[in-house]
Amino acid sequence: MREIQKICQACGRVIQWRRKWEKCWDEVKYCSQKCRGSKRSDTDLEIERVIVRLLQDRAVGATICPSEAARAVFSEESWRLEMQRVRKAARRLVDQGLILICQRAKVVDPSSAKGPIRLKLTSKKGFL
Ligand SMILES: [Zn+2]
Repeated sequence: MREIQKICQACGRVIQWRRKWEKCWDEVKYCSQKCRGSKRSDTDLEIERVIVRLLQDRAVGATICPSEAARAVFSEESWRLEMQRVRKAARRLVDQGLILICQRAKVVDPSSAKGPIRLKLTSKKGFL
């Protein structure tokens, strides 16, 4: 059976099946040309590791703001500019089953969440 949706390897959002992908769906990894052109860099992998590490250092069930990861990876001058990148990393970690994205203490859909989010470890421990 074919999966009807996948997660984009760059932005972490859901890729909806389209007819044009009928013959190559198994190979589809990115939701758009833009994402295809922005594959994960070492910095993106570092952001993922930092998010998991920050959460592992907290009490069980505690959450972090994505800005904490941004500040840990980037300089004081640049971290605000990198917030979208951190949110992308968070969505990829949701796809990997390592974290959840929450708003007002409720788990939300990573693809559609707008506004401030908090990140939380799933019960499965992540070791990156
Ligand atoms: Zn994408």
